[in-house]
Parts: sequence; C-alpha cells; structure tokens
Amino acid sequence: MIKFLDLQKINLQYQAEIEARLLETFRSGWYLQGNEVKNFEANLATYIGSPNAIGVANGLDALRLIFKAYIELGQLKFGDEVIVPANTYIASVLAITDNRLKPVFAEPNIDNFNLDISAIEALITPKTKAIMVVHLYGQISWSEELEALAKKHDLKIIEDNAQAIGAEWNGTKSGNLGDAAGFSFYPGKNLGALGDAGAVTCKDDLLAKTIRAIANYGSEEKYVNKYQGLNSRLDEIQASVLDVKLKYIDADNEKRRKIAEQYVDGIKSNKVILPILPANPKEHVYHLFVIRTKKRDKLQKYLTENGIQTLIHYPIPPHKQKAYKYYNNLSFPVTEKIHEEVLSLPISSIISDAEVNQIIHILNQYQ
Ligand SMILES: *Cc1c(COP(=O)(O)O)cnc(C)c1O
Repeated sequence: MIKFLDLQKINLQYQAEIEARLLETFRSGWYLQGNEVKNFEANLATYIGSPNAIGVANGLDALRLIFKAYIELGQLKFGDEVIVPANTYIASVLAITDNRLKPVFAEPNIDNFNLDISAIEALITPKTKAIMVVHLYGQISWSEELEALAKKHDLKIIEDNAQAIGAEWNGTKSGNLGDAAGFSFYPGKNLGALGDAGAVTCKDDLLAKTIRAIANYGSEEKYVNKYQGLNSRLDEIQASVLDVKLKYIDADNEKRRKIAEQYVDGIKSNKVILPILPANPKEHVYHLFVIRTKKRDKLQKYLTENGIQTLIHYPIPPHKQKAYKYYNNLSFPVTEKIHEEVLSLPISSIISDAEVNQIIHILNQYQ
C-alpha cells in the first residue's frame, strides 16, 4: 500500500542528528524556556526574514495569540470583523471567534483554492479591521491588489502559514508578507515536530513582546502578570527537533515540487481536474496535492482498492460545522463545491518516483 504520509520514514531521514539532539536536550535537565527554543526562534526568524519569531504550543495558539495581543494592545476590539476564506481548516476561524471577533467569510478562486481577492472589497464594512489569508495547501495567497486594499482601508493582514513554510512571493517568504503570521509544526506539516508545536512571526516588536508574554501566563517578569495570559510555550525537545529539520526544509519542499510536476505531467484522466501550478514555482510548497473530481467518493474508493491511500482536505467547511450552528444557513457555492470535489493524493519528501508513477498509472486507468 502507498501511504498518504509516512511520518516514520520522513523523520528517519534525519535519525542520527535528531537522536543526538534529543539526547543532549534530555541530559541537559532544562526543558522549557531555554537555549533550544531561543536558538530555533533565531534560526526561524532568519529563515523567514522576520525580525521576530516566537515559539508557541501549536498552530491554533499561534493564530489565537496574534489576535489576543492586538486586543491587549487596543488595536482590535471585541466585535471587530475579520475577513477569512470560507474554505479553510477550522483553526483559522476558531482563532477569530475565540477572541470574540467576527469572522466574515469570503469565497475562494476555484482554480487555486485561495481567497478571491477581487471579492473582498465588497465585504468591507466600518467594523472590518483585518484580513486573514490562508496559504492553503502550501500555495501563497497574496497580491499587490491585496496589499493596496489593506492599505486603503487600514486593515491588518494576518497570515495562516500553517501549510506553506518556505513558500515565496516576489522574493519574500510567507510569514513575512503580512503584519503577523501563525505557523504549525504539527507532525504532518512540511516542517513537523514530534508532537504539537507552533510559532508566530511578526514585524512589530511590541506585538512580539506582547505575544511572548501572553503565551507565558501574561508575564514578562516571573510572578508579575501584566495580562490574563495562557500557557502556550514551545518546549525544548520539540525546538531541538525542529531546529534539525529546518535545515532541510528547502530541499524537502523542492522534492515536493518535483512530485507535483510529475503528477501534472503524467495524469491524463478526463475525470480528474488538476491543480494549476503557479507560474513562479516558488509560490507553492505542496503541503498537499489536491485534485478535483465529480464523483469524489467513487474515485477515493477506486484508489483505496488499488492500494493508494488518499485524504480529503476538507470534507466540511467551517460554516457548515455544528460548532458554528449560527453560520450553517450561510451559502458559499464555490467553497461548498470545493469541499464536495477535492481529493488529496500522496505527496511528501520521501515518496519515490516509482510510487508516484504507479499512482499516475492507476489514475489514468480510472473509468
Ligand atoms: C494545521 C493547521 C492549523 C492548526 O495547527 P495546529 O498546530 O494543528 O494547531 C491552522 N490552520 C491551518 C490551515 C492548518 O492546516
């Protein structure tokens, strides 16, 4: 069977280095707020090109903390509206509602699954204070038009960069395009930890300081609490593993690009709608390779029967979830069509050419 994602194989690529660092951290006797985190934060900031990187407990917290800090700083207030794509993982929306801000859902482009920027302006009201872009599936969601719109209406741009570490737009890395960005290092992400982990990058030093404090019980000085904070810290063990893997992220992403090209060149089935690859290959890091097809369940079953594991990202959009009952009556036809038709094929830095060719061959025989 070809697995959707073989995490064991991915991490064993760096076995010797990771085990050495883990042992060192274990033996150091220092497990939180130490040199491993400091070192990883510095290397992440350098990699992204951002003046600030803050390690946190997970990707959802990274996004929640950005909004929380803006509220503490008086730059956002409860009830403010945040434009967010309707087709995203629910974490993007939870970060907004958890802070008693109002998500305003926007439709994506069917061609690249990312925000339809031309549709945003119509959604802006006097209460709109921010746009959250999600670089979905690893593809940059950005344009000059978006920058101009944010400037014109004085909106902050927050990037959900959980899926796109290493992607670039005109020479700038995702995570350094907007005002602040949330990263996830969930094990299956392109840069994956051995458990939960995340980070925030941001341009403003005061915002960074505030996020760092809120993530540590609202404290800048031990036992002195400036904010009603939370406990959302990256730990030393995860930071040491991430620091090893960060060195290989560009090479890993490059392998993913090659696989995506192999799929696009090889898949000839008229039952499959392929993603349109960006003209500049650096704009996509292929966290997922997502095709569309009319009878999705039938194709998924066919692939399973032929030994190919696939997943759906995602089967139900946030506004149709029970958790958001009060949004269930909203209608976003493009988003809903995407959720009915998408299917993610295996892609990773370790899947072999032979496996990809086998998947292509099986897909091309699908009737
Ligand atoms: C994974 C993911 C998150 C959340 O990250 P966690 O580390 O699982 O909390 C947020 N947004 C998107 C788009 C994601 O894919």
